[in-house]
Amino acid sequence: MSAITQATAYLVDLEVETVRTDAVQSFLKQETVFVALETADGLSGLGYSYTIGTGGTAVLALLRDHLLPRLIGKDARNVEAVWSDLFWSTHATTVGAITSLALAAVDTALWDLRCLRAAEPLWRLAGGYRQQVPLYDTEGGWLHLTTDELVAGALASQKAGWPGVKLKVGKPRVHEDLERLRAVRDAVGPSLDIMVDANQSMTYAEAKRRAAAFEVVDLSWFEEPLPADDLTGHVRLAAATSIPIAVGESLYSVSQFREYVAAGAAGIVQVDVARVGGITPWLKVAHLAEAFNLEVCPHFLMEIHVSLTAAVPNGRYVEHIPQLRAITRSEMPVVDGHAVAPDVPGLGIDWDSDAIDDRRVS
Ligand code: MG
Repeated sequence: MSAITQATAYLVDLEVETVRTDAVQSFLKQETVFVALETADGLSGLGYSYTIGTGGTAVLALLRDHLLPRLIGKDARNVEAVWSDLFWSTHATTVGAITSLALAAVDTALWDLRCLRAAEPLWRLAGGYRQQVPLYDTEGGWLHLTTDELVAGALASQKAGWPGVKLKVGKPRVHEDLERLRAVRDAVGPSLDIMVDANQSMTYAEAKRRAAAFEVVDLSWFEEPLPADDLTGHVRLAAATSIPIAVGESLYSVSQFREYVAAGAAGIVQVDVARVGGITPWLKVAHLAEAFNLEVCPHFLMEIHVSLTAAVPNGRYVEHIPQLRAITRSEMPVVDGHAVAPDVPGLGIDWDSDAIDDRRVS
């Protein structure tokens, strides 16, 4: 028995490390929700979740008022049982973003405990496929950046040996997007992967039009072209373009991924460990994708996604958006354009507990 004896949650606000804009929003701040668990056999696990600026207090309230009290006395080793109990206890608010984010904070703490107990790093305990995963950059591709800045960012990534860059799209006119993409492609040549992301900003008709215009640039994927609840639109768009359609950062359950994957609406699966409800469902989505011969390129959270993409055979890319520097003592290593999964027991994130305490808002 490894009974949970204490469960606490708190919220930490992190300023954005750089200005980040896309077609619909700016990244305001990272609201980081932590869950700390203690067990009777003397282990301490720390999990986390996040928003990009709103809803963090709602996640915290759900945890404190409803989820954490249910954990006391439960065996932390039985992760599926605990996850399922929490999920069904909140059935009136599932499937939903707030509940999934709250579940993720608990689930990642349970996995931290699981790895600490086994004295294994997450990348190995979650599957153990390989320790290094190709890294692509998003930090040089925000929508407010000028074409010259996009080109400079892409060239810097290429010079550093990184295999890909992602550029935001969704400028008012097609030619504006196309000129930016062409400038980057002309500068880097044919061998760098270029992805684009519209952040759900387009109609089906507009996304189809832009995808046709973008074909000449040779894109590795077209991310979130449409609102995430427009499954039919994604099916039609995937059939209408040769560019792989990437979705997943705005899907909140395994079953939502099943609908997309089974319908042929996703060419790249971008499951986000926080938004899907934790490592437990993340792995199910990754394996579902594998069964459909799809690659997984998770959204954001590189500090934990490096270990998860390293765990599974179809992990294709880690997204470079560093956002935990203020509360960690060391950064994710990058070697030859590859993110390296940490080899220490636990989630492997080098939390700075003093810095975290200094930034607590609740
Ligand atoms: Mg995106």
